[in-house]
Amino acid sequence: MGEYIGDNSRSRSSDESGTYDEWIPSFCARFGHEYFCQVPTDFIEDDFNMTGLAQEVAHYRKALDLVLDLEAMSEEEEAEKEQPVSRSIVEHAAEQLYGLVHARFILTKPGLQAMAEKFDHKEFGTCPRYYCGGMQMLPCGVSDSVGKNSVRLYCPSCHDLYLPQSSRHLSLEGAYWGTSFPGVFLKHFKELEEYVDRKAKDTYQLRVFGFRVNDEAASGARMRWLRQYPISEEDQREWQQCEFHIPPLQRGA
Ligand SMILES: [Zn+2]
Repeated sequence: MGEYIGDNSRSRSSDESGTYDEWIPSFCARFGHEYFCQVPTDFIEDDFNMTGLAQEVAHYRKALDLVLDLEAMSEEEEAEKEQPVSRSIVEHAAEQLYGLVHARFILTKPGLQAMAEKFDHKEFGTCPRYYCGGMQMLPCGVSDSVGKNSVRLYCPSCHDLYLPQSSRHLSLEGAYWGTSFPGVFLKHFKELEEYVDRKAKDTYQLRVFGFRVNDEAASGARMRWLRQYPISEEDQREWQQCEFHIPPLQRGA
């Protein structure tokens, strides 16, 4: 055995034996795959959602059949048509295909909902930064193409990226979540923006025997303003003006 035989027949094999594992749930249940949510098969069966993936994934048809648990062709029939592809190659292609579909699915309404449940259960971990007070993070890709970067975690409170704390998540492909996911997620769940807004915006100030280190010193907090937020009404007004246009010059001074 050891060889996967792909085909074009559309019959399901899952009801033939009671011990058959469906590919998508078993892939998501694998150790280290906690960041993945289950993409419904009807989403994958919709050709519109798969646009362009046939060019990106090798052995696309076989990979798709594996993901959708479609029945394999008999060995003789396969031998007549083309060279059989080793099971591990098809398995790898199926993982890549699922990952890329996953990145598309989590930007849809049901996908965002599925990821929100994981977010609520802190399945993506919490921000290691002390002042973020255990804010839940969101998986994020640095690139949308496969093979560039592993997955990062975005903290909505400090707006920064972190590496996953567990080594089993360090090798996950970042493109399987994509660069747009945290942005779409935060825009979709408005209440989350408000929740983040209510969180304390403290930043750490280095001190030596009670004295602040000068901002000009090499260890000084020169870039502290990057994490500062408007507090007083005057700050707020200035910030709002700067956000949309350059404040007008004082003429005749
Ligand atoms: Zn944070």
